[in-house]
Amino acid sequence: MDIRTDNPFWLMKSGFLEIYPSLKEDFSTDYAVIGGGITGALIAWYLSQAGIDTAVFDRRHIGMGSTCASTALLQYEIDTPLFQLKEMVGEKNAARSYQLCVESINALEKISKKLKLAEFERKPSFCYASRKKDVPDQIEKEYKIRRKHGIDVEIWSEKDVTGRFSFAAPAALYSPKDAAQTDAYKLTHALHQDSIKAGAKVFDKTEIAEIEPKKRGVVLKTKNGFEIKAKKLIIACGYESVNYLPFHIVRLHSTFALAGEPFGKKELWYKNALIWETARPYLYMRVTSDNRIIVGGKDEPFQSPTKRDRLLNRKTREIVDSFKRKFPGIDLIPDYTWAGTFAETEDGLPYIGSIKQLPHTIFALGFGGNGITFSQIAAEIIRDEAIGKKNRDAQIFSFERAS
Ligand SMILES: Cc1cc2nc3c(=O)[nH]c(=O)nc-3n(C[C@H](O)[C@H](O)[C@H](O)COP(=O)(O)OP(=O)(O)OC[C@H]3O[C@@H](n4cnc5c(N)ncnc54)[C@H](O)[C@@H]3O)c2cc1C
Repeated sequence: MDIRTDNPFWLMKSGFLEIYPSLKEDFSTDYAVIGGGITGALIAWYLSQAGIDTAVFDRRHIGMGSTCASTALLQYEIDTPLFQLKEMVGEKNAARSYQLCVESINALEKISKKLKLAEFERKPSFCYASRKKDVPDQIEKEYKIRRKHGIDVEIWSEKDVTGRFSFAAPAALYSPKDAAQTDAYKLTHALHQDSIKAGAKVFDKTEIAEIEPKKRGVVLKTKNGFEIKAKKLIIACGYESVNYLPFHIVRLHSTFALAGEPFGKKELWYKNALIWETARPYLYMRVTSDNRIIVGGKDEPFQSPTKRDRLLNRKTREIVDSFKRKFPGIDLIPDYTWAGTFAETEDGLPYIGSIKQLPHTIFALGFGGNGITFSQIAAEIIRDEAIGKKNRDAQIFSFERAS
């Protein structure tokens, strides 16, 4: 699957960060992780920190799937608002999902500190009402239910918004501290390097071509003809994980993003908050640590790489126009533009767990705007299962809800 255009900003910025070998002989491990992007990296890190024998296999160079295309906003807000999610999965599971995303950001901060990754930065999150009717239909309902479940969020009036931003919006939700931003590509490499120190093995340019479930584990066959024996298999193949599912649970889209030329000034808008909106698809923006504005959105409901790439210039113009309508005083000049596949599930939650068709296997599928926070949740669930610790949240994300 072609899941992104060639030159996403993070890849251009950092280039090839580390070198990993390809697999050149038969191999055996307790936990085999297919996919070495941010999801596989977090899982392997949690497993290896727990002293579990782990090996990662990726068919690309490490981090070169969706991970290097990720704009890497870390938000506790799931694409499905809490008041709507409650109707889909029940209030208890919906509220817990939101709280888990808050906890994930805290966990990612701790890990980033441990790994000395400077790119993790706490930010506020600001979600404005795109239309007047979104105030009673969304903002007010959402504010009430989030507060009920102890989430630190403020509701802002139009006056509050115009007092702080260069644009008007009829209302907004402002979360002062439970959001962050990072560089998912760098974080992925930092995690793998630390896992290797803890004994994990990481192989890239190693495609898994076949999975054969056995009585006591799985046998994987690589495209180059090597065999990998594992007691457990983790599928962390990002959007390509759908290749291993015998049923349909996600819709694949195309999404577009740009990074502008850097500015001299540090604060480009109110606290350089992560900005997004109630409209779907939403436009979102953030400021990098080197003062570039990243703006993304304008999603299209198809995955076709040819159609996606043909649209890149037009989508860039649309993104710049939308940005300028909000910030007429900021001269955003696109420096890097890219596009990638994006996916959403019916309820906006990830799928983390097993299916009966693939024994000894756990899927870790973080889809949607919270892909990275979901990867963190998946890593903890999988580590808990590996060490025999009951994880009371695992059922929220299981495949059973799809049937
Ligand atoms: C433009 C864009 C913006 C985004 N913005 C955000 C954001 O702001 N915040 C957020 O949280 N999320 C965001 N996301 C989503 C986020 O980037 C993804 O959820 C995340 O990168 C997925 O990571 P992953 O490791 O699961 O997948 P990937 O990074 O795609 O890694 C999966 C790996 O599996 C490997 N693989 C697949 N099949 C095989 C095989 N058979 N054998 C061996 N290896 C295999 C692939 O080569 C790949 O490297 C965005 C995505 C895009 C495209």
